[in-house]
Amino acid sequence: MTSGITTAAPAKKPRPTLDLVVSRTEWLTPHLVRVVAGGPGFDAFEDNGFTDKYVKISFPDALPGGAWPDGPVDLTALKDSLPREQWPVTRTYTVRSFDPEARELAIDFVVHGDEGIAGPWAAGAKEGDRIVATGPGGAYSPDPKAKWHLFAGDESALPAIAAALEALPEDAKGIAFLEVGSAADAPELAAPQGIDIRWLSRDGERAGETLVLAEAIAEAEWLSGNPSVFAHGERGAMKELRAVFKQRDLPRKQLSLSGYWAHGRAEDQFQAEKKLPVGQI
Ligand SMILES: Cc1cc2nc3c(=O)[nH]c(=O)nc-3n(C[C@H](O)[C@H](O)[C@H](O)COP(=O)(O)OP(=O)(O)OC[C@H]3O[C@@H](n4cnc5c(N)ncnc54)[C@H](O)[C@@H]3O)c2cc1C
Repeated sequence: MTSGITTAAPAKKPRPTLDLVVSRTEWLTPHLVRVVAGGPGFDAFEDNGFTDKYVKISFPDALPGGAWPDGPVDLTALKDSLPREQWPVTRTYTVRSFDPEARELAIDFVVHGDEGIAGPWAAGAKEGDRIVATGPGGAYSPDPKAKWHLFAGDESALPAIAAALEALPEDAKGIAFLEVGSAADAPELAAPQGIDIRWLSRDGERAGETLVLAEAIAEAEWLSGNPSVFAHGERGAMKELRAVFKQRDLPRKQLSLSGYWAHGRAEDQFQAEKKLPVGQI
């Protein structure tokens, strides 16, 4: 007999709003700019312990006047007061690192051309600019029991992979396959000695239009045993990788694999397509 009482799933705790001010920027490569931001809004930042922690940055371009109102922003109240087409536009970015002493965090943005909102914004970001974001979310940190680690990604995943490499124990083993536009686009990375870092250049081809990542991983000699995998980047490239991992019979639970963006799609469309067959990895 059933009691007739149903238990509702616990409501998700809303992620805090981070209202930050840019303190400085630093070009790490010709197409990767680090934006460091902090200020009183950093008080709302709570570390979730994941190396792929990410925030959803809101951009005010569609708001009346195209700029944030003065004073602190309540995103929920702001959206309630505006029609959908005037809502802030959101873009997802990894928190590359944070400094609890300096009360600031760093985000590394790929500067991928004139298209889009976040990339062009980051290219011109300067001290005093505002970053309004929610988060962090996240799901992955390196498994300390892994036999070895396989990292794969393009420039958009470099911040999350770099954070994971820094969190590995000294004796960790693995291979990191990192796709970049050219040799000049490879930033300095810190990693344990046992991690073999392989830079894969697209040699002038556009991101999302080559198979360099999947081909390199399929052709590589792997270490023995199943790796713990962290693979993220352009959606089509991730689908190719999924097939490679399937061929190698990798158990699903050892895979962190997803698209971070999709060729020819703004993030809004990319996120909406996650519910459609084209969006599934
Ligand atoms: C969990 C998560 C973490 C992420 N972390 C980072 C991060 O730390 N750093 C980072 O740079 N990106 C990161 N991304 C990817 C980022 O959210 C997307 O690249 C986003 O689309 C950029 O927004 P935009 O406004 O610049 O371009 P959009 O308006 O979304 O897109 C405009 C055009 O640019 C193309 N485009 C978008 N991104 C790229 C790219 N990287 N290279 C080439 N063309 C592109 C699109 O296909 C589209 O044609 C992350 C994504 C996720 C889901």
